[in-house]
Amino acid sequence: MEKEQVKKEIKKLLRSMDYVSNFLNNEKISEKDLQIFFRIYQQLGLAWEFWGLQCSHWDGYKKTKDDKEVCKICGKVKGVDDFYYLFPREGPKKLGTKLKPNSKKTFENEREAKILSDTINFHGASVNVEVHNSYKSTLSGHKINIAADRSVQLKERGIECYIDQYLIKVPIMEKAGKKI
Ligand SMILES: [Zn+2]
Repeated sequence: MEKEQVKKEIKKLLRSMDYVSNFLNNEKISEKDLQIFFRIYQQLGLAWEFWGLQCSHWDGYKKTKDDKEVCKICGKVKGVDDFYYLFPREGPKKLGTKLKPNSKKTFENEREAKILSDTINFHGASVNVEVHNSYKSTLSGHKINIAADRSVQLKERGIECYIDQYLIKVPIMEKAGKKI
């Protein structure tokens, strides 16, 4: 999407949101109308979320009164995660960054040590990425430390290819070579 077009659409959208918010702040509005305008405002908010995904915050950020940095174009707060992803239909898609264990500490449990656990089904192939720091666990009553790790698992046609920091497992089955 063209930068100028995105900027124009966001500007129009923010103007619509301002317009609707005037009704929300009007004390004379009926309860019924208030609900309708509130719903419209929420719907515009959703549209704003999506337009914000198209914005690369080209013009930088400005400081707000409460000391936050927001994009000069879309108004999104700097460094806050988006709720949605948008992908181009053509060409390579990129989702997330390459995360690795980021602490030398051994955490008390798996939950605290977790950095990422995410799965995508991409055109029928399943890819799972797990990243965690070291944590304490028990194995048959013995206390053990699970090492920090980043592991990637790909599943396709019943075959699971597994790669972590120490091990690569690709079970080859006879029928894997044949067309199923
Ligand atoms: Zn922006």
